[in-house]
Amino acid sequence: WNQLAVQKVPPKVLRTKLQLPVKTLMGPGPTNCSKRVLQSLQHQIIGHLHSEVCQLMDEIKAGLQYVFQTKNRLTLALSASGHGGMEACLINLLEPGDTILIVKCGIWGERAADMATRIGANVKLIETEHNKAVTLEQMRTALDRDRPVAVFMVQGESSTGLKQPLDGFGELLHRYNALLIVDVVASLGGEPFFMDSWGVDAAYTGSQKVLGAPPGLTPISFSPLAEQKLFRRKSKPISFYWDLTVLGVYWKCFGEEDRVYHHTISSTLICGLREALAEVAEEGLQAMWIRHAGAAARLRKGLKLRGLQSYVKIPEYQLSTVISIELPPGVDDRIIVQRVMEKYKIEISRGLGPTVGKILRIGLLGQNATSKNVDLVLRALDDGLRQASVSKL
Ligand code: PMP
Repeated sequence: WNQLAVQKVPPKVLRTKLQLPVKTLMGPGPTNCSKRVLQSLQHQIIGHLHSEVCQLMDEIKAGLQYVFQTKNRLTLALSASGHGGMEACLINLLEPGDTILIVKCGIWGERAADMATRIGANVKLIETEHNKAVTLEQMRTALDRDRPVAVFMVQGESSTGLKQPLDGFGELLHRYNALLIVDVVASLGGEPFFMDSWGVDAAYTGSQKVLGAPPGLTPISFSPLAEQKLFRRKSKPISFYWDLTVLGVYWKCFGEEDRVYHHTISSTLICGLREALAEVAEEGLQAMWIRHAGAAARLRKGLKLRGLQSYVKIPEYQLSTVISIELPPGVDDRIIVQRVMEKYKIEISRGLGPTVGKILRIGLLGQNATSKNVDLVLRALDDGLRQASVSKL
């Protein structure tokens, strides 16, 4: 190898000590992990099929069935961020030529439409104003028009702060033989969600949002109806990595004796998610929903006192986990976000996709959904707004 043209000098940048500041993450995700979760990440690596990891996977499955409020046996965590959950739902439940109806209230519906098109599905959209949810009536009209095999909805549209009410949709869709896929990445644990009672067939979330684990695992659950569609496919799902018929075996979902290797899951992330779910179990889902709603109410009150308007006007559609604020005219959102980060080490976010330059977004996710953090972010926001108005002069 001496003769080969190797790069002889190792990169100098890697000789410096790794250093990261501590920040308070109050954007739409990720959120900060608790001390207990952080400590759990310090364990030495163990194998992805070792009995200890298998035990933790079983515990995680029980925790996920609780947070999704489901008895679904096909409940597990993908080695991926939230996008992986979206892709896994679509790849497993759609075959080329299938029609899917996608509710597009912001960026996430748009993304699902992109993925479904790549799979070769026939994509139909219901578009709403970005601060209004879709109604059962609108859904019925679209179902009559499109006759889809599946419908994709987002409970917590983090690009707009919109909450999509879900009660009644599962029942309606099942009358049309359509499956209900719901993205609960930005809402699960912070907003009530009842997978079984609401007739949701596929749902996925992100470990890094309300659950308060590090990013990298994506909880997902399929109902018996979704399983049926999966096992009756004419063709295999186009991706091996997302194929839930094999992933389900690795997670021992189908009553098999032994797990079969599918991929190397990160034992570190497994430890983190296990501890995050243990904290959820200790606090209890109802207490978490109340805590998130309380923090959101306090934040909205504070914003109102400052003369700031919610982007989502109808209270029923206001999400507790991501609060969107209309940007006052002529104010540069970049200055606010930058000031809040530089001076306070707090992350708040600008709009995303269709809402860039129109709104600011404040996340109240997991351990950060507290009165103390709300007051902290309001003080920082005041300063950011002052800074933005000085810059206008
Ligand atoms: N869906 C929603 C509603 C989200 O908020 C996000 C992340 N912001 C995603 C999907 C994608 O998740 P990830 O960035 O973890 O891939």
